[in-house]
Amino acid sequence: MNIKHHLTDDILMAYSAGTLPEAFNLVVATHLSMCDECRAAAASYDAVGGAVLEGDEVATISDGALKATLKLISEMPKDAIKTERTYKPGIFPTPLQDYVGGDLDSVQWRSVGMGVKQAVLKTSKEASVRLLYIPAGAAMPDHSHKGKEMTLVLQGAFSDEDGRFGRGDVEIADQELHHHPTAEMGEDCICLTATDAPLKFNSLIPRIAQPFLRI
Ligand code: ZN
Ligand code: ZN
Repeated sequence: MNIKHHLTDDILMAYSAGTLPEAFNLVVATHLSMCDECRAAAASYDAVGGAVLEGDEVATISDGALKATLKLISEMPKDAIKTERTYKPGIFPTPLQDYVGGDLDSVQWRSVGMGVKQAVLKTSKEASVRLLYIPAGAAMPDHSHKGKEMTLVLQGAFSDEDGRFGRGDVEIADQELHHHPTAEMGEDCICLTATDAPLKFNSLIPRIAQPFLRI
């Protein structure tokens, strides 16, 4: 898989420390199951976190020791890094299949208008996560964000102000990004997207519909 847009170190560290809301955990776990590079980085944070937690007292790791540990881990053969996440053929990688209780055909879509569909998944309330189905060539209403938004592409591709995102790519948006994601022609685009605050739509119609859609 040719993944160009990855998770950030901050997010991987927070995931490893278990401080992310459930909705974001699902997006991270799903990306990790598709991405060797981020999985290796996450494994190194797990190892460092584990080493710190094993001591009775709060361990202080010198910068040099931390770098040496990370270097050691990065030199480990790929097989030694946890690879238990394998996935059955389908659109959804295993962590998402487990969450949904199946693949694409078990999703209960609700229409959002203009051919766009969504399915909100059940998670704890601090953040929400949904599957989005955007027909090829269709666009999401342009919007900005009051908090964080993390979007993982599962099928097809979309483009916006930040670039092109294909299967496996993650887009991380915050208050700074104002975007207008548009699905590429040729294949309908399916994404998994988590948010921790409502979006800010720039036109009236989506703003009116917003409370009903729980976006
Ligand atoms: Zn990655
Ligand atoms: Zn957005």
